[in-house]
Amino acid sequence: MCGIFGISGHEDAANLTYLGLYALQHRGQESAGIVSWDGERLHAERGMGQVADIFKAHKLAELPGASAIGHTRYSTAGSSVRSNAQPLVAMTSMGPLALVHNGNLVNARELREELESSGSIFQTTSDTEVILHMMARNPRRDVVESLMEALCRVRGSYSLLLLADSCVVAVRDPNGFRPLVMGEYQGKPCFASESCAFDLLDVKLDRELELGEVVAVRGGEVQSYRLSAMPQPSRCAFEQVYFARPDSKVFGETVSTSRLAMGARLARETPVPADIVVPVPDSGLFAALGYARESGLPLEFGLIRNHYVGRTFIEPKQTIRHFGVKVKLNPVRDLIEGRRVVLIDDSIVRGTTSPKIVKMVRDAGAAEVHLRVACPPTRWPCHYGIDMPTREELIAANHTVDEIRDFIGADSLEYLSLEGMLETLGGEPDSYCTACWTGQYRIPTNGQAKVQTDLFPIRTEGE
Ligand code: AMP
Repeated sequence: MCGIFGISGHEDAANLTYLGLYALQHRGQESAGIVSWDGERLHAERGMGQVADIFKAHKLAELPGASAIGHTRYSTAGSSVRSNAQPLVAMTSMGPLALVHNGNLVNARELREELESSGSIFQTTSDTEVILHMMARNPRRDVVESLMEALCRVRGSYSLLLLADSCVVAVRDPNGFRPLVMGEYQGKPCFASESCAFDLLDVKLDRELELGEVVAVRGGEVQSYRLSAMPQPSRCAFEQVYFARPDSKVFGETVSTSRLAMGARLARETPVPADIVVPVPDSGLFAALGYARESGLPLEFGLIRNHYVGRTFIEPKQTIRHFGVKVKLNPVRDLIEGRRVVLIDDSIVRGTTSPKIVKMVRDAGAAEVHLRVACPPTRWPCHYGIDMPTREELIAANHTVDEIRDFIGADSLEYLSLEGMLETLGGEPDSYCTACWTGQYRIPTNGQAKVQTDLFPIRTEGE
């Protein structure tokens, strides 16, 4: 869960990257960073927190040069500390390198142990760093060759941007788990996790990188290579369900269109006599609209979200009260009172949020609350870059739908079927990774029982 952006050959590279990251903030709010290249050296600025908090005008002014890459981070491997903030930078015999990564490398632990046993000294606990070490040990005249050779040893999900003295390189893994698009800004090539970053900048969207494609921009020349002759499509369906922004085009489909279709399909699969459809904002908005249109029930904004609550909200004093989900959501009693409500959310993961929302809607006077979920029950952790907890923590891994309904306190609970969800996504159903619902992992995970949240715990002073 991260966002990446990069541009080559434009005098405002760092400023454009900053704006691109701003549009990708939803993909990670823990830390952000930009590295630029001014023709002689790399300039880096990284920090904890959100893009707007880290990059002030004077900081951007310290990032000169015509090429830049940037990253917003939500950690799925490696702890949330400043030293893990990306771009990662390394000094090598090929010159300085900077790297940003969206995804999760499932064999990073083995590779790291091997590298460390022969002398590598790691600076971070991030899985991404193994790529830089393998490149540094295998220098090539062409840095792209060194990167591609390193990637031959890596397994997992990765959309990458590499910045070196002579080039910007973009890579999408042969399974294409994570999105990555390329476009053109005033004739200069640029790359982003999602097309919403291009919309902000009026970048002309060219295309999504192909599976296993490596695009190298050297001195204005754009060249494309292939990592694997046999790509195996495994696009992450959860990007469409929850993670990507609804205005983005991901895997060739506008996300809001997919979510509307999921909601409509949900209405056909799981009808219920009711008076209104209420979305859980923001994640359930489009599915609820699709459900309402298909069922003919009116859509009402019965829950209002406070958009200024970050992940860092601290309860000021426990004795005042436990705020829980109330900080984020508030019901509109006039809309809900006496009504039979179909409540729509995108997913249930741990099951900690839904009981609170259902209670909130009941307390606001709802006559009935029927929860509908726009994806199948989430039963397996993600090893490819979405922050999904262990099986023990996933409520649907350990309970039946009826048990979950009782726990949540809803009058009824239904999920979208797997086949229904895949049909709404378009394309071959087999081209999507559905591991979090089915347990069918496309890349073996070496029996990892859970996602590695911290490969090699370290303490860093002051963090
Ligand atoms: P819970 O069931 O309490 O874990 O919360 C699930 C809700 O959090 C969903 O309705 C989503 O809107 C949102 N969500 C889903 N997946 C994630 C994730 N990987 N990280 C953070 N929030 C998520």
